[in-house]
Amino acid sequence: MPRPIQARIDLAAMRHNLEAARRRAAGRRIWAVIKANAYGHGIERAVLGFGAADGLALIDFEEARRARRAGWNGPLLMLEGLFAPEDIAACRELDLTAVVHSEAQLRMFEAAPPGPAVGVYIKSNTGMNRLGFEPREVAAVHARLARLPSVRVDGLSMHFANSDRVDAAAGPVSMNEQLQRFDAACRGLDAPRCISNSAALFLHPPLAEDWVRPGIALYGATPDSARPAESLGLRPAMTLATELIAVRTVAAGEAVGYGSRFVAQRATRIGVVACGYADGYPRHAPDGTPVAVGGTVVPMAGRVSMDMITVDLADAPDATVGTPVELWGAQVPIDRVAQLAGTVGYELMCALAPRVPVVAVG
Ligand SMILES: *Cc1c(COP(=O)(O)O)cnc(C)c1O
Repeated sequence: MPRPIQARIDLAAMRHNLEAARRRAAGRRIWAVIKANAYGHGIERAVLGFGAADGLALIDFEEARRARRAGWNGPLLMLEGLFAPEDIAACRELDLTAVVHSEAQLRMFEAAPPGPAVGVYIKSNTGMNRLGFEPREVAAVHARLARLPSVRVDGLSMHFANSDRVDAAAGPVSMNEQLQRFDAACRGLDAPRCISNSAALFLHPPLAEDWVRPGIALYGATPDSARPAESLGLRPAMTLATELIAVRTVAAGEAVGYGSRFVAQRATRIGVVACGYADGYPRHAPDGTPVAVGGTVVPMAGRVSMDMITVDLADAPDATVGTPVELWGAQVPIDRVAQLAGTVGYELMCALAPRVPVVAVG
């Protein structure tokens, strides 16, 4: 018997979330972001779930190849562009659009061997201060790219630092400030614009842009921990499910697990769940973190170990060995687990361990 743990990817939920994004986008086209193995959901499953997107955006060239092999014939945007000059050959072979964010990448295109033109997005740094050209440089970058026969300028992009704040004026670098810098960068340039991530798309009024780039929302998690995904009309795409593999009653005063973090106040039935941090469950989840056992939400009791967690079954008296358990999904929002563990849903999805079998449903 294989260990009972499994991640189920709900393709119907992915289609539903893309539709929700489509409504928010109000006419803007959608790059569905599928980097990091589609936030842990699998490139091939993302191609199925997001088949109605206008394009798919990612980072890794091998994942782009997988998307093509899975049958995706539409646009593919490489969000970090080229890592080395030879990536231009992959752009041509796989028909990829590449972000250009640095002088080094610009020189790679200027030195490219002759061949079919590669579509590029010019990325502007408007306050995130990771990637991109300064706004005052963008016109010159555009001019250098526009004269290359091996390049076609397809878009202008930027990325927000604080779009998860509901007040658009908030933060040391507000959304409004970034938008003003972007406007300055793009002045006089005639190319489609692409700005919004999930937070900008779902939490703010529509922006003047041609394309949006949501990721997390399409997987049914929230871009802002203060706004539950459900309240944004989103459905969880990933369910991490397993079973109880043991049940025991511990006496009052007995402790459970490493460090004896949970101490029973009274005789307590403890369920042992076949999932631990080696499966991607966060080790920092505190006692009380919700776990659904046979449809009832019960509290974690004791430290997460490598292959197991332990829960207090006081409210699930019928639970026994083999009872189904949901770590996250429709009953336990991934965002809630993440918040209690001091992280975000993004990290939990991406950290799903390779040893967990993944199946598509819906
Ligand atoms: C990851 C990423 C996105 C998607 O962000 P979400 O918060 O998941 O919606 C959009 N744009 C860029 C450049 C990204 O790297």
